[in-house]
Amino acid sequence: MLDFLRRRRASGPRVLVIGLDGVPHSLLTELIGRGVMPNLAEIAASGDLRPAESTQPTVSCTAWTSFVTGVNPGGHGVFGFIDREPGSYRHYITGSRYVRSPQVWRTLGERGHRVIIMNVPVTSPPPEVNGLLVGGFLAPKLEGATHPPELAARLGRLGYRIDIDPWQARKSLDLLLQDLDATLKGRVAGATELLSREPWSYAMVHVMGTDRINHFMWAEWDDGDPDYAPRFVDYYAAVDAAVGEIARAAGDDAELLLLSDHGFTRTVHEINIDVWLRERGYLGVPASEDAKLTQADASTRAFSMTPGRIYVNLRGREPQGGVEPGDEYEALRDEIIAGLMELADPDSGEPVLEAVRRREEVFHGDALDRAPDLLAIPRDGYDLKSSLTGDELFTSSPITGMHTYGDAFWLVRGRQFQDGTPRVEDGAPTALSLLGEEPPEGLDGRAMA
Ligand SMILES: [Zn+2]
Repeated sequence: MLDFLRRRRASGPRVLVIGLDGVPHSLLTELIGRGVMPNLAEIAASGDLRPAESTQPTVSCTAWTSFVTGVNPGGHGVFGFIDREPGSYRHYITGSRYVRSPQVWRTLGERGHRVIIMNVPVTSPPPEVNGLLVGGFLAPKLEGATHPPELAARLGRLGYRIDIDPWQARKSLDLLLQDLDATLKGRVAGATELLSREPWSYAMVHVMGTDRINHFMWAEWDDGDPDYAPRFVDYYAAVDAAVGEIARAAGDDAELLLLSDHGFTRTVHEINIDVWLRERGYLGVPASEDAKLTQADASTRAFSMTPGRIYVNLRGREPQGGVEPGDEYEALRDEIIAGLMELADPDSGEPVLEAVRRREEVFHGDALDRAPDLLAIPRDGYDLKSSLTGDELFTSSPITGMHTYGDAFWLVRGRQFQDGTPRVEDGAPTALSLLGEEPPEGLDGRAMA
């Protein structure tokens, strides 16, 4: 029965999603206008290119998990690439086992669709899918990152790499560019091989390199650096060529959806929220090289995690919690909101935050208990970090670009979207509807095409 279903599905509608992590709508429109991205230009001319919105917090792991599940982070439980173990001061790197809502490949597999999933964040360890899967940037290495396991060797022979080495990129932009180029070539080789030789009805190919180059080279691009701005543009031209090859391997009859999960802008300042909490007397862990949250006692009333996630040290919930639930908890949240909203850029005096929201104002769903008590939402240009080791409030790093909530993009070939701004959690229902499948009940997203 399952074999019959697989064969039947493979001859029905097919949907290819290409994720270009962190590509802003504004950048794409500019590069299309300059003639740098002819494949994207052609797809946009036949279809609909729209500005789109991310998730809060604006983190790739959080946003792509919203895409594949169709729910907000309060439903799927991924609030960052590092999350907290509830009821403790310990952290973990997120992964497929922490996602609390079914991903689109699970829904489709149960309905007999065969899938090919390549490099989508939060897919390690690799879940068993009906089809093929290779993990995304948090997978330690190709070996062990695939379903089935033997797919790793097949991709390895094609020069497939999961990601660049970001530590090399911190040393040299030339190394970054070489690494980006090799990784993109391997992605195209792997994707064209699988899409053209395997049966599938839903495929997702993710490119992380766009997010990487934006983080490391936004200033060079923005300043029109004579050496590196042209090479930034060259990389986008290579991404356009890659999109063309991958789309051709899938065939003209496949539905094609391209999107990014967030926008990008230049970083004005990084802000260490832990330093602010410490200076105000909320965080009782002194700055030192080996400072850890496990050193917190009841003198700590609040602590934070990147980006802008603030947790109250609540009695009965955190092991050393001293803040009483109820009035004391609410008064503390009000006080932190009021204090943080006064935080101003030391150079311009401009406020750095758009808002600070209570968890229940931003999130809803079964994973609400894992959400931060407060979420600080920055104005574009202010990158919120949390580090117990640092003691400077305003800092900088080799990372010159940061994520934005707005200015992501969605693009569909040969169709128009429904009215309204696409949001990343519209992904799963849209993909399902393009396949002629009814989305499961209870999703936050809408079918946009
Ligand atoms: Zn990023």
